[in-house]
Amino acid sequence: MAIDFTLEPEIEELRLKVRAFVDEVVKPGEAQIGALDTGVERDDYIRILLEMRQQAVDAGMWLPHMPEEWGGMGLGHVGLAMVQAEAAKSGWGPWVMNCQAPDEGNMHTLLHWGTDEQKQRYLKPLCQGTTMSCFAMTEPEVAGSDPTLIQTRAYEDGDEWVISGHKWFISNAHRAGFAILIARTEDDPDLPQAANTAFIVDLPSEGWTEVRQIETMHGSTGHSEIRIEDLRVHQDQMLGGRGQGHLLGQYRLGPARLAHCMRWIAQAETALDMMVERSLDRYAHGSLLAEKQGIQWMIADSTMELYQGKLMVLHAASKIDAAAVDSTVDFKSEVSMAKHFVANMLGRVIDRSIQVHGALGYSTDTPLAHMYQHARWARFADGADEVHQMRIAQRTIAAWKDHGSTRTATGDLPL
Ligand SMILES: Cc1cc2nc3c(=O)[nH]c(=O)nc-3n(C[C@H](O)[C@H](O)[C@H](O)COP(=O)(O)OP(=O)(O)OC[C@H]3O[C@@H](n4cnc5c(N)ncnc54)[C@H](O)[C@@H]3O)c2cc1C
Repeated sequence: MAIDFTLEPEIEELRLKVRAFVDEVVKPGEAQIGALDTGVERDDYIRILLEMRQQAVDAGMWLPHMPEEWGGMGLGHVGLAMVQAEAAKSGWGPWVMNCQAPDEGNMHTLLHWGTDEQKQRYLKPLCQGTTMSCFAMTEPEVAGSDPTLIQTRAYEDGDEWVISGHKWFISNAHRAGFAILIARTEDDPDLPQAANTAFIVDLPSEGWTEVRQIETMHGSTGHSEIRIEDLRVHQDQMLGGRGQGHLLGQYRLGPARLAHCMRWIAQAETALDMMVERSLDRYAHGSLLAEKQGIQWMIADSTMELYQGKLMVLHAASKIDAAAVDSTVDFKSEVSMAKHFVANMLGRVIDRSIQVHGALGYSTDTPLAHMYQHARWARFADGADEVHQMRIAQRTIAAWKDHGSTRTATGDLPL
């Protein structure tokens, strides 16, 4: 049995290249954009972003999650974990490298489920960075945690589908060139999960109305409420088969959840770095904060939790890679456990870092306050904590019933 956490030399080289790119190109660009509130013009803002993107393309730092034939870096999930974690050391890193949510998940979905024509029309420009996309599933009237409740309806009319419904929290919808829209098409499916179908909708389209961008605790940043009334799409716009909307959503969420974890690990590491740096600078009651046991406990707890999160993400990524060559490998539980743990760990580490910074941490003079606001959604989006816990518990109980032991449910490790 080999347990070796060293990276293959070419992946390690790539990781360092991404780190240097983020330090030398993205962070300085981000600092310029940070001046937006204090007077950077919108044209300058766009120009800075697009220049950074061009530099990413030139440096081969583009689409880490896509195969080479689509202009990507052709990495497995372990390699991807490294690159994503480095990219997310800066808030704009994933966008600059064109691996940001929700486009990243939509690219996976189109690659796997799209017809050749759909790939040319939608995936290609997404990969080239000339368009953006959104994924429209959640509805205000029913629990987003349970997609079998979706009320948006699509019915067939000749060679078209006519769709009506109501969506909200659709990230990127304001800017997107197209949406992947989930609607109910089946009245009486064999399985409740097989009621929904995915459609690709060109935006703007008649029948698709953006009601508002929803103001959230981190501001109004492009999560839209959408009214859909008699929206017509040609049957060629169906993505995957009839009744496969849930399957497609699940397929999309596996790697997408892990990609979130990688970005969250980067954020938690930044918060811990800042916590330590501050504790070595700040003097109170006769010593530096770093010399006080209460502060050391916060540093130690954060260190241990970050270590746990990294191990979980690496293991889940290695299982996704293994599943690509052996379809009997199941990674759902590992991804669920990693998502739940890392989402919660992120909030705790940022919270401790704010504590160590005192009033400075509460101000917007450091990135911590914004990081904290962003971190809150991690605990219910892409699977609420309790839903992951429900699934994890179900698998643990099933393992006990099947094998008389819970061992396979705890990562199926040889321990
Ligand atoms: C910033 C942001 C961006 C988003 N982007 C998108 C997007 O691009 N596209 C999209 O379609 N959606 C998006 N969403 C919506 C997100 O996916 C939903 O918020 C999520 O699926 C939860 O659904 P809900 O909000 O309806 O909560 P509900 O389903 O109503 O759940 C509320 C709470 O109920 C509890 N709960 C639910 N089920 C169980 C259970 N079985 N057992 C115990 N407790 C339970 C949990 O505590 C949960 O947090 C986004 C949300 C946010 C905040």
